[in-house]
Amino acid sequence: MNDYLKLQGVRKLFGDACVLDNVDLEIREGELVTLLGPSGCGKSTLLRCIAGLTELDGGSIMLAQKDVTRQPPRDREVGMVFQSYALFPNLTVGQNVEYGMKMRGMSKAAQRTRSEELLALVDLEEKRDVYPQSLSGGQQQRIALARSLAVQPKVLLLDEPLSALDAKIRKNLRTEIREIQKRLGMTTLFVTHDQEEALIVSDRVCVMKGGRIIQDDSPEGLYTAPRTEFVARFMGSYN
Ligand code: ADP
Ligand code: MG
Repeated sequence: MNDYLKLQGVRKLFGDACVLDNVDLEIREGELVTLLGPSGCGKSTLLRCIAGLTELDGGSIMLAQKDVTRQPPRDREVGMVFQSYALFPNLTVGQNVEYGMKMRGMSKAAQRTRSEELLALVDLEEKRDVYPQSLSGGQQQRIALARSLAVQPKVLLLDEPLSALDAKIRKNLRTEIREIQKRLGMTTLFVTHDQEEALIVSDRVCVMKGGRIIQDDSPEGLYTAPRTEFVARFMGSYN
């Protein structure tokens, strides 16, 4: 199968600091790949480059066999969920989910049908007319997920979507995200600094350090055969 998302030699500098240093990454269609690494290693910057929110200083990004390196964010067909739920507080849940569809000129009836499907997918149909602040953190993240899927993205980018949640909700939601991702066959890049989370949800894990991917492996491979001392220590340090 072809690579669905392909990054080649991606570089990003902030002033003198090289935050992404020649990153190569390939994700096949329907795969969930995790970027795992300590805070500051460049995970969010890499996602922002893929979404087009940050310009590259070198390299290229292909999505579904199309070069999107110079495309503006709105043309990239990418869905993104952030750590802190960036729902619009002044819009209802339904309006939040429909927002991107409205922007793309979809008819009201089609917006409604699609948002009902998506709210059912995340099991929150009954919350359609309430405002985000009346929801729990976990529910808000499920709405954020539904909203990111509304425009039928080619790739889903999840930037530590569980980090702000309590342990129990975090565990339930990671399983739920994985189930939804599999059911939709959604090509997904998932970012976390949590080793256990990475090992549990992923088809493949890429360990990042200082702007580079230092091991790209199956969860089992990472755990049983870390290639460097850093990876061994990092994988061994979770509790
Ligand atoms: P992570 O998501 O892995 O924690 P980030 O991608 O957010 O890491 O950041 C990687 C590095 O880039 C950090 O050292 C951070 O301080 C720096 N950085 C991120 N965004 C900017 C920016 N807009 N301007 C300057 N430095 C930045
Ligand atoms: Mg980050």
